[in-house]
Amino acid sequence: MKNIKECIHCGEEFSLHCPKKRRVGGKINECPDCVEELGLEIKSRVRAFTTGDGKMSAMQILRFENEDDADAYGKTWEANRGWNNQRRGGLNNVAFSKVGENIGNSNHKGKAS
Ligand SMILES: [Zn+2]
Repeated sequence: MKNIKECIHCGEEFSLHCPKKRRVGGKINECPDCVEELGLEIKSRVRAFTTGDGKMSAMQILRFENEDDADAYGKTWEANRGWNNQRRGGLNNVAFSKVGENIGNSNHKGKAS
């Protein structure tokens, strides 16, 4: 699963899947060193949220506009756990885009839709 890219800034090759790249973020064509050096993306704004329980869980990976939004969403999410996953309490006010989703293959009974 090596995904080698060439950095647009320094021309160095780097792996998209190396721990440092995962940590510092940045664009797909920016090596972690440049991201860090240039301050292109200082904080991670991508959060993963899990829903459901155990083997029926699903995971959503969301990218937010900024760290505050990510935190706000996370707090609201935590506060609303156990409420059948209803998105209450203003989650819709937080801007985000879904970057990934991994829905468990569940046969939830009586799940409100
Ligand atoms: Zn670079």
